[in-house]
Amino acid sequence: MEKKQFQTESKKLLDLMINSIYTHKEIFLRELISNASDALDKRYYQALKSGDTGVMKKDFKIELIPDKDAGTLTIRDNGIGMTEAEMESNLGTIAKSGSQAFREQLEKEKGNNDKKENPQEITDIIGQFGVGFYSAFMVADKITVTSKSEFSDSANTWESSGADGYTIEPAEKDSVGTDIVLHLKKDEGDETYSEYLEDYRLENLVKKYSDYIHYPILLGDKTLNSMEPIWKSPKGKVKPAEYASYYKNRFGDYEDPARVIRTQVEGISSYTALLFIPKHAPFNYYTKEFEKGLALYSSGVLIMEKCKDLIPDCFSFVQGLVDSQDLSLNISRETLQHNRQLQNIRKNLEKKIKKELKDFLKDDREGYESFFKAFGLQLKGGLYESYGADKDLLADLLLFYSSKKQGYVTLDEYIEDLPEGQDKIWYAPGETLEKIAMLPQVRAAVADGKSVLYLTDDIDEFLLKMLQNYKDKQFASITDEIHENESDDEKNAAKEAEEENKPLLDFMKETLKDRVSEVRFTTGLKDSPCMITSKGEISIEMEKTLNRMPNQGAGLKAELVLALNADHPAIQTLKKVYGEGTGETNKENAAKITRLLLDQSLLLAGLTIDDPLQMEKDLSSLIAASL
Ligand code: ADP
Repeated sequence: MEKKQFQTESKKLLDLMINSIYTHKEIFLRELISNASDALDKRYYQALKSGDTGVMKKDFKIELIPDKDAGTLTIRDNGIGMTEAEMESNLGTIAKSGSQAFREQLEKEKGNNDKKENPQEITDIIGQFGVGFYSAFMVADKITVTSKSEFSDSANTWESSGADGYTIEPAEKDSVGTDIVLHLKKDEGDETYSEYLEDYRLENLVKKYSDYIHYPILLGDKTLNSMEPIWKSPKGKVKPAEYASYYKNRFGDYEDPARVIRTQVEGISSYTALLFIPKHAPFNYYTKEFEKGLALYSSGVLIMEKCKDLIPDCFSFVQGLVDSQDLSLNISRETLQHNRQLQNIRKNLEKKIKKELKDFLKDDREGYESFFKAFGLQLKGGLYESYGADKDLLADLLLFYSSKKQGYVTLDEYIEDLPEGQDKIWYAPGETLEKIAMLPQVRAAVADGKSVLYLTDDIDEFLLKMLQNYKDKQFASITDEIHENESDDEKNAAKEAEEENKPLLDFMKETLKDRVSEVRFTTGLKDSPCMITSKGEISIEMEKTLNRMPNQGAGLKAELVLALNADHPAIQTLKKVYGEGTGETNKENAAKITRLLLDQSLLLAGLTIDDPLQMEKDLSSLIAASL
């Protein structure tokens, strides 16, 4: 019989499963039961849609059949089944986009594990990626799947003993559905596989992982699960641990949710919703692969796994489901978007989520900050993309690092705690908090007692520029247009210095040519000789961000200004070296110092210098001359 090879990626995943040192091998049962339940959902949905009353939901079931003599455990369902082609594509390949990411992650963790010996991390990853059907290879050395599709007259058997490939051949099976036969591995030391043939163990596992599956899971005549959908049982009856276990199981997370939202609405559109705010972003969250949406049920029947119209983009991290008795089963994806009821539900859920996040912020600051680390970018992105229209919804959920608090604050907290005499919301963008704190302008502002927000996300500055203000307080950057930051006295002092030193400034501009558009004096600096700032619409950080984006913004440049601190000894030395008639005039050295001042300012601002070789020459010749 012809042996077919697994797709490369599948084979790698399979190898991992077969040789798994994963301690929670028992989750294989959860995965197979959940597949069976999906298959039953699909069949039921088909039946309802086509009005085929021959298939009755009450006949739907999942059976567990242990056979101690043969050493096999069979999981049987009368769900939708698979055709030959479906077997080929569903079981021979992993269609899941996550598989590649899973492997990479695992390799990485393995590297760490050599040092740390932490099997918990492997556990976490397997749970996180929900590897599905293949997890059965952790406990079985051979798997036989016999299936008959609702849409085909013939049945087929798929069989595999692991990584060396699989076979598919015609089989006898009268009824629609799928039998999965696991030939369990032999017990070996601590690793016992025969436990999965024991009634008590199976019952225990079903209770633990699959209690809410809404089809009966049978062992002989006994129904092992309670079958009541968790969102239908009375609110007070469900314990937090039960929600957590349902969430992890249903949405493939390895950590408990940060928050659970349950809401029930009776009225023009009646519905129940059960929503979860995760603690951390899924591995593919910030990629195109991530599919947002809530599961949509109509009176307990799943009609769509990911209904994206139920949730606004800014809250796309929320997982969960909505069950409404008023929705037609035949609702199509196209009509969904314009469905008034859905729009209503979406609006209500948006309010609920907002309220939950506010409560979260209020009663669990630490938890919220860690939530914000994971999803803050999404909230900011949502706000930016709405062109500020969602300001009321989102702005008070944002956190920024504050120099005054030395920690994260909301905009409200920032405003409430403004230092005397400060009426603007000062911010400074940069790559990291440390680098921002090093900027001359920031050091000066902080020394002055100003409260400054440090912005480290690419989007931050664009966002604040767009918002312009928060509760009547202007956002303003401490790093650009320094003249605006200065008092009138300071401006006058800078003007005077400029007039006095016009020839020097002209000389410096001439020396630096196009590298800067202006050289001027400023009084805002304390212990730095100079700094780089920008004028115009595009700041230095914005230029960096824009130039990182493919196609967009390439070539957009910030207009750089080199601003000098007249009181600093280095600038006074430069004046002397440049100065006519002081006897110390050395134009060549003045040019070297000028170039070096610009170079060091650029480096502090996180920019690169075009000609490091010139810097080397300038610096070493000045060092050599200084003795
Ligand atoms: P997932 O269930 O997450 O898609 P799996 O690897 O567990 O990934 O399963 C792959 C696919 O095989 C499923 O999406 C489904 O199409 C099919 N499948 C698995 N088990 C069954 C079953 N019992 N009945 C029908 N189809 C199944």
